[in-house]
Amino acid sequence: MGDKEERVEEFQLEKEAELRFEVEAGSTVQLELVNGKAEVFGSELASGRKYTFNAGSKVAVFSWHGAQIKLSGRTEVAYISMETPMVVYLNAHVALEQMRQKSEKEETRGPRILIVGPSDVGKSTLCTLLLNYASRMGRAPMMVDLDVGQGQVSIPGTMGAYVVERPSDIEEGFTLSAPLVFHFGHTSPSKNLTLYNLLVSRMADVINMKCDSFKKVNHSGVIVNTGGWVRGSGYDSLKHAAGSFEVDVIAVMDQERLYTELKRDMPDFVKIILLPKSGGVVERNQTARSDARDAKVREYFYGSKNTLFPHTFEVKVADIKIYKIGAPNLPDSCLPLGMKPQDNKTKLVPLTPSTSLLHHVFSVSCADSTDDNVVETNIVGFIVFTEFNQDKQSFTVLSPSPHPLPKNILLQTDMQFMDIQ
Ligand code: ATP
Repeated sequence: MGDKEERVEEFQLEKEAELRFEVEAGSTVQLELVNGKAEVFGSELASGRKYTFNAGSKVAVFSWHGAQIKLSGRTEVAYISMETPMVVYLNAHVALEQMRQKSEKEETRGPRILIVGPSDVGKSTLCTLLLNYASRMGRAPMMVDLDVGQGQVSIPGTMGAYVVERPSDIEEGFTLSAPLVFHFGHTSPSKNLTLYNLLVSRMADVINMKCDSFKKVNHSGVIVNTGGWVRGSGYDSLKHAAGSFEVDVIAVMDQERLYTELKRDMPDFVKIILLPKSGGVVERNQTARSDARDAKVREYFYGSKNTLFPHTFEVKVADIKIYKIGAPNLPDSCLPLGMKPQDNKTKLVPLTPSTSLLHHVFSVSCADSTDDNVVETNIVGFIVFTEFNQDKQSFTVLSPSPHPLPKNILLQTDMQFMDIQ
C-alpha cells in the first residue's frame, strides 16, 4: 500500500438511484451493502458481504428501494446518479417474461432477442441484466455472444453460447458450465465476413437443437449479443444474425438511424425497439479495448484472481496438425474450376511448424480428423506455443490442462500471449 491510505466512503442511495464507480489502476475496491437492497447489473448484493473489484472495473450499484453502500479502496470516480434507464430495461424484461409465459401455454418457442448498437452503449451490460432478471425468476435462458471483439463467453476471436441457470456472481460473472465455443480467429468480423456469417448460421442451428431437447431453455428464450459494427457489411451481418436466430425482438441501443433502417428492412413480425444508453457506460479507446482483450487471454490461463496454474509440456510436431482458416483472396482467374472466392475464406490452410507460430493463441478443435467439418466444429480450449525446437521437431506449449493435448487439430488465432508473470 505504501503511502496510499485506505479510503472508506459511504453512500446513501435513494430509491431508483445508482452509484457508479471505477477502480483506480493498480488498486482494488471493496464494496459492501450496509443497509437496504441493491444490485450490480441485475445480480443482488448480499448484505454485509465484502465484494472485491479489480483495477479498471467499471461498476454500477443500483437500488430500486434505497440502500446504504460502503466502498473501501481507491476509486477513479464514484458518484450517484438519479438518471438511469433502468425502468425502461426492466420493462423490456417484463415484456420478455410475458412472452415466456405465452410460449409455455402455447407450447411454442420462447422469446429470442437480438441486442444491437454501436460500441460502448452498454449492450453486454443489458444482456447481463436481462439474464440475471430471467434467472432470478427461475428461467434458464440461453446467452449467445456473437461479439468476437470483446466477447463474454471465451477469449476474443471466438463466438460462444451458454445456458444461464443462476444469477451472475458479482465478482466472477456467470458460471459457464460447458459453454459452446466456435473458433473465428480474428477480433473483427470484417476480417472474414464469409466465415463469420457461416459460424453465426451454424451457432443458430446448434442452439435450435439445444432448445428442441431442453423445454425449459426453449421457453426461457435466447438473448443474442452482437459487436459494435453496424454500418455497411456490419449491418448486413446483423440482418443475417436476426434471420439465422429467427429473432422476435431486436433491441437497438442508442442509435435512431439503425433503428429506422431495421424497421424498414426487417419483416413485420420482428419487433424493433429503441433503448436508451445509460449515462454510466464508460467509453473505451483502442488501447483500453486491446488491453481488455489481452486481459481475457491471461484470465483464461491464470484465472481472474491468478489462482489457476497452466501446464507447460512438449508436443511433437508429428502429433499435431496446425491450420489457419481462410486463404488470401485470389483473382477469379486463378481459382480452380468451379470454386468461388468465398470457398477460399473457409478453407483450412496448413501452417508450417516454425518459430513464426510462437506466442499465437491456438484453438484446440473438437474435431478428430480433417474429414470432419473442422471449420464448423466447436473448440475445447486454447494453447500457446512458447518455444520451438527445430532439432527435436517439437513445440513447448502452455496449456490449461496437463499433458497430453485433448485433441490434435489446432487453429491459429490473431491473439497473441506473452507469458510474463
Ligand atoms: P462493446 O460494443 O465494446 O462490446 P458494449 O456496448 O457492450 O460495448 P458494455 O461492455 O456493456 O458496452 O459497457 C462498457 C463498460 O461500461 C463496461 O465496463 C461496463 O461495466 C460499464 N458500464 C455499463 N453500464 C454502466 C453503468 N450504469 N455505470 C457504470 N459503468 C457501467
